[in-house]
Amino acid sequence: MGRLIGTVTKVVGAKSQVMSAGQPYRCDLRARIFRRKNKRLAVGDEVEFSVTGEPEAGTKDDEGVWVAEAREGEGVIEAVRPRRSALRRVRDFKRDQVICANLDQVFILVAVHDPPYKRAFIDRLIVACERDAIEAVVVFNKLDLCADDYAELVAEDAAVYHALGYRTYLSSASSGLGVDELGLAFTDKISAVVGPSGAGKSTLLNRLCPGEDLRTGAVSESDGRGRHTTTAAELMPIPAGGFVVDTPGLRGFGLWDLDPSEVASGYRELIDLSCKYRNCLHRSEPGCAAAAAVESGEVDEERYESYLHLVEELLQDDEGRQNQRRR
Ligand code: GDP
Ligand code: ZN
Repeated sequence: MGRLIGTVTKVVGAKSQVMSAGQPYRCDLRARIFRRKNKRLAVGDEVEFSVTGEPEAGTKDDEGVWVAEAREGEGVIEAVRPRRSALRRVRDFKRDQVICANLDQVFILVAVHDPPYKRAFIDRLIVACERDAIEAVVVFNKLDLCADDYAELVAEDAAVYHALGYRTYLSSASSGLGVDELGLAFTDKISAVVGPSGAGKSTLLNRLCPGEDLRTGAVSESDGRGRHTTTAAELMPIPAGGFVVDTPGLRGFGLWDLDPSEVASGYRELIDLSCKYRNCLHRSEPGCAAAAAVESGEVDEERYESYLHLVEELLQDDEGRQNQRRR
C-alpha cells in the first residue's frame, strides 16, 4: 500500500489520528523520528505515512445519521514535514510544548455587547500572535445587539485594525450579518478561535463543524475543568476544508510570559518609529518618537495606551519577581 500525506488531528500517547483527504487514519510513529531532536508530534503537523489498513468511509442517511459505521484506516508515520509555525504553551523552547503546529490564523472573537469588548484585550492577543508569527483576525460579533450609532463606533475600531493590516469582520450569528464571509475565511486553513467567555465562540464553531463534539461548550472557562479533563489539543475538520483547533490550553492564550521588548515588536505601528534608541520602549525616553506619532494620528491613541499599559504591567511583574528573589 502506498504513502499518503495528512494532518495530525489528535495525539494520544504513541498513537495519533491523521486526516488525509477527509479520511481518518490511526497511526504509529516510527520511533526514530524526532528522537534526536527531542521533539514531539503535535496536532497540525503535516506527515507522510504508509497505509497499513484502508479506512471504511461508512454511510450516512439523508439526515446525516450513520447507518454503516465508519472505520479508521491504519498507518505508520514515516516523516514529519517542517513546521510553518508553532503555537507554544509556554516559552520554553527546550521542552518544545507545542499546542498546535502549522496554525495559520487566530480569530480573536469579541462581542459588541454581552460582554462588551475591551480594545486592550484584543491588542494583547495580537501581541501573542505576532510573537509566534501567526496571523491575527479580529471579529466583532453580536452586531445585532447594538444601535446604529454604537455600530459606527465599532466600525471605527475595526478600521483601526484593518489599517494595520489585520483582517476584520463584523458579524452576528442572530441576524446572519457577515456569517458566510466569516465562514469562508476558515476554509483550507488551520485556525483557532479565542475570545472572552460568552462572545460566541461555540456558536461559531458549531456552525463551522456541525455535529462535532465541541469541547468549548463542555468545559467551564473559569477553571478549565469539565467533562474533558485532558488539556491536549484536537483539530476538528471543517467540512468545507481546513481545521479548527479546540483546546482548553488556548484559553490562557495571550496571558503567557511576554517580555516588554516582545510587546514592542507586537505592535506593528511602533516597530518602524524613528526613536533615538533602537531598543526604545516608547515610555517617554529621550528621543522617543511615539508621542509625536500619536499626536499626528499616525499611531492610534488607544493602541498606544494599551501598549503602555501592557509594558507597565510586565515591568511590574518583573520587579515583583526580582524582589521576591532578593527576599
Ligand atoms: P462562547 O462562550 O464564546 O463559546 O459563547 P457562545 O457561543 O456560547 O455564546 C454565548 C451566548 O451568546 C449564547 O447564548 C449564544 O446564543 C449567544 N450568541 C452568539 N452569537 C450571537 C450573536 O451574534 N448575537 C446574539 N444576540 N447572541 C449571540
Ligand atoms: Zn520610542
